[in-house]
Amino acid sequence: MDQTPLRIGSTSISTSEHIEVRSPYDDRLLGRVPRCGPEHVDSAVEAARRAMTEPPPPWRRAEILEHAASLVSEHIEDLALTVASEAAKPIRTARTEVERTVLTLRTSAEEARRLAGEMVPLEGARPGDGMLGFTRRVPRGVVAAISPFNFPLNLVAHKLGPAFAAGCAVVLKPATQTPLSAIALHDILSEAGLPDGWCNIVTGRGGSVGDPLVEHPDISMVSFTGSPEVGWAIAARAARRKVGLELGNNSPVIIEPSGDWETAASKVAVAGYAHAGQSCISTQRVYVHRSIHDDFVGALAGNVSRLVAGDPLEEATDLSTLIDSDSIARVDRWIGEAVDGGAELAVGGGRLGPGDRILEPAVLTGVRPEMSVSSEEVFGPLVGVASYDHLHEAIEASNATRYGLHAAVFTNRLDDALRAAEELRFGGVLINEVPTFRSDPMPYGGTGDSGNTKEGPRYAVREMTEERLVIIAR
Ligand code: NAP
Repeated sequence: MDQTPLRIGSTSISTSEHIEVRSPYDDRLLGRVPRCGPEHVDSAVEAARRAMTEPPPPWRRAEILEHAASLVSEHIEDLALTVASEAAKPIRTARTEVERTVLTLRTSAEEARRLAGEMVPLEGARPGDGMLGFTRRVPRGVVAAISPFNFPLNLVAHKLGPAFAAGCAVVLKPATQTPLSAIALHDILSEAGLPDGWCNIVTGRGGSVGDPLVEHPDISMVSFTGSPEVGWAIAARAARRKVGLELGNNSPVIIEPSGDWETAASKVAVAGYAHAGQSCISTQRVYVHRSIHDDFVGALAGNVSRLVAGDPLEEATDLSTLIDSDSIARVDRWIGEAVDGGAELAVGGGRLGPGDRILEPAVLTGVRPEMSVSSEEVFGPLVGVASYDHLHEAIEASNATRYGLHAAVFTNRLDDALRAAEELRFGGVLINEVPTFRSDPMPYGGTGDSGNTKEGPRYAVREMTEERLVIIAR
């Protein structure tokens, strides 16, 4: 199998050594990509810097992004196959990711068109007499974008779309496990008219290309999505530049007695297990009122036992394997620790599939806050349930985390909904919806170890641009 070349500026790059991309499900060889080094990072940053000296006007950037969105929508099946193969994401879920990518690029195009500052009422204060003031949004400069494996296409689009809308060229380091979706998206953007140098991909491990990239003096902003450990270490190294971090979570859901627990049980059976729980807003912790606990657990366990685990390329599959054997071992160990500590498996917890690589989707009841399945980010097909007597206990338990991305409450009482929205310390609070909901028009980002920025094209463009004040003395 030939190496898939990368495009840095106008040059096609291959390397003498390569990285093999293999299916996490059956270890099938899917492709080979260059093993880049610091010299490729230097050329990529230089190509990006040069590209930014001749920026296409915003209307043209919008046209290119719209064209790219149309091309993505014409290639849903091929792109979904690439995502499904390299990330072991079930093909139906992979299609949804491609459809979201269309939306991300279209929304980014809209943002390119509405890039605007605001009037500054200088004449409201005596020193500003006779002066006209306004701000402009100007691109920060070259963006280093680093993306994770779990949404290998859409999270790349969430970096490339807003960056181009903002007028920033990008050097992208995709996750080593999933570079093929990113390269495919770059090809589509080029076909749509993205000029050379505006997106430059470097493939290689965090240590060999990630470190030189975030430390490069010509990088103005690092836009990182991934784990808190890697993200905060990058922020510590990338001094004197903007660092936007989108990190993990262990999303809680509270189910009140007035809430529709049956709907909650059917939504959680999707939201805790889609892509085997490998989403930053996967539903992980459920706090259910004692009066409805057994009904809810019965309904959830029934729904979860009907999920189809298997080959990601089969239409019927709801979830497949985790990204690597370390992740499988971690989740297995945490389930074992929880059971040893008194939690009970209502369903699942075994192994399935070739080489026992699939974790059977599990529901644990009686979980306690100190268990890793509650306190850490599981990133696996597991939901832990605990009961409570008063709403304030459930809010307190939800907040007892180092994360803070999304939390949710099912209730029919307006005052409880408003109280939860006020007291849950998360970037987003969802009422009568699971915390796993995300759409592109919304500001998406968390507090604490969930990060320090907002994405969603409108908000990402704001992060990738600076406000420049212009004053005209008349
Ligand atoms: P990860 O291990 O932190 O890796 C993320 C990216 O960082 C990969 O491209 C990785 O490259 C790179 N990297 C590793 N070390 C680096 C270094 N020293 N310098 C620069 N880059 C480096 O995360 P993951 O396992 O791919 O993804 C799972 C995590 O992402 C979870 O915590 C999840 O919650 C989080 N996530 C958050 C969001 C959000 O929007 N908040 C969305 C999706 C995922 P290699 O692949 O080469 O190691």
